Amino acid sequence: MEYESTRGDCRSIMSAEAIKKGISPDGGLFVPMEGISVSPGDIEAMATMNYRERAIKILAPYLSDFTPDEVTHCVESAYNANNFDHPAVAPLVVLNNKLSVLKLWHGPTCAFKDMALQILPHLLVTSMDKTGEKAGLLILVATSGDTGKAALEGFKDVPRTAVMVFYPAKGVSQVQKLQMITQEGGNVGVAAVRGNFDDTQSGVKDIFGSGVMGEKTAAQGFKFSSANSINWGRLAPQIVYYFSAYADLLGQKQINPGQAVNFVVPTGNFGNILAGFYAREMGLPINKLICAANENNVLTDFIRTGAYDRNRDFKKTVSPSMDILISSNLERLLFELTGHDAPRVREWMSRLKTAGRYNVDPGTAEKVGELFWSHFASDRETMLSIRQTYNRYNYVVDTHTAVGLNVYDKYRAGTGDDTPTVVLSTASPFKFNASVASALLGDEQTAGKSEFQLLQMLSAFSGLPIPQGLRNLEMRPVLHEKVADREEMPETVLSFVSRLIK
Ligand SMILES: *Cc1c(COP(=O)(O)O)cnc(C)c1O
Repeated sequence: MEYESTRGDCRSIMSAEAIKKGISPDGGLFVPMEGISVSPGDIEAMATMNYRERAIKILAPYLSDFTPDEVTHCVESAYNANNFDHPAVAPLVVLNNKLSVLKLWHGPTCAFKDMALQILPHLLVTSMDKTGEKAGLLILVATSGDTGKAALEGFKDVPRTAVMVFYPAKGVSQVQKLQMITQEGGNVGVAAVRGNFDDTQSGVKDIFGSGVMGEKTAAQGFKFSSANSINWGRLAPQIVYYFSAYADLLGQKQINPGQAVNFVVPTGNFGNILAGFYAREMGLPINKLICAANENNVLTDFIRTGAYDRNRDFKKTVSPSMDILISSNLERLLFELTGHDAPRVREWMSRLKTAGRYNVDPGTAEKVGELFWSHFASDRETMLSIRQTYNRYNYVVDTHTAVGLNVYDKYRAGTGDDTPTVVLSTASPFKFNASVASALLGDEQTAGKSEFQLLQMLSAFSGLPIPQGLRNLEMRPVLHEKVADREEMPETVLSFVSRLIK
């Protein structure tokens, strides 16, 4: 399979090159040049396969320059019992005969980012070998919480890679911070930045863009790379679980072969739901992809009107991993829906950059509206949704999944469509335990309690065990105490690299 950039200047490169580069030199994102289709018979056959077998089936054609052994090696290194605490990897829970939940958080960090970040390091290292890359890769990450820890867990002790994560000192939860500063591994670095997420992210972007920094790290044997969701190596693995959910519905006789289903996706950067779009293009019988947003509802407006406008206040919500105003992966969707029209996509992206807004043409807007449906949930509705889900199904969900369930209710009420539907569950309730405990136990019970007390209380209330990755966090040794000003970030990276090569 060959890949091309959504901005048109980089074409016909193989997957190993696309994964290694991450972003195209022209600023665009890589997409496959041709479609891949999976036959109805192949989809049915997946019902009796395990997750690894399904992953190999879906990923192999996208990685056609990898040998079958290389694909198998990457898949088996990621989706195994050391990394995922459920044998199904991404288990499906049937709530009623129309509604199921797909749990994407059985990986080491308890959020869906693990589904891609457990395999990305192996795809990257294999890509380096295949392209004769001699340098090591230094992954720099700016995180608002979930991505940083998932990248640390994914890359820890992976040969020829190192990972340095920056997080805003006051911008992450206590649990998220402890997850990162207690991170083990010989090739990992973590530092807090005095500032907010924007300062942290722009600091990392400056380092990526700095010729001097590039030379200095190259002299130590490292090249910069990125693990964020613009890398095709993060997107492709996410296609797998759409097929896997469908195969499980077939296997459990919830649907008949060929029957259409809807997916509801709690969305931020549009990476997760875009994988659903590719699954649909490949032949998975998907009726609607339902984009669930929180009050940062820029995508809801876009899907309804064709106008993307980031000029609005950024809101901090109880579903922080969806607090995003620029959804980078939308660029890939626009490229696909315009029949790979790079000049048009380039024009829209340049308007987004200069004016913060763009309008797609009516034809493209119509296609978006045929495939997607969108609504959003306020914080109040999200908290209510946690409570209702528990009352209706005796099932505990986190805030992001609760946004999805609230939007599903709105979809049913608004359209009358009762197609069987799968809601993607993107985080363990224990990961956002403060909100979940307050929704289920009430503010009186939870006021003044530490996050660790709340973990215990939630576990006692729900009868669910605290996941391994969150257990005893407060007792683990702190290994990363560095706090840097934004200006000190380059120096922090250089001193991390020099420690590595000792
Ligand atoms: C990252 C994340 C999302 C949003 O996914 P996108 O691919 O950015 O749309 C939703 N929920 C959780 C818990 C996440 O960590």
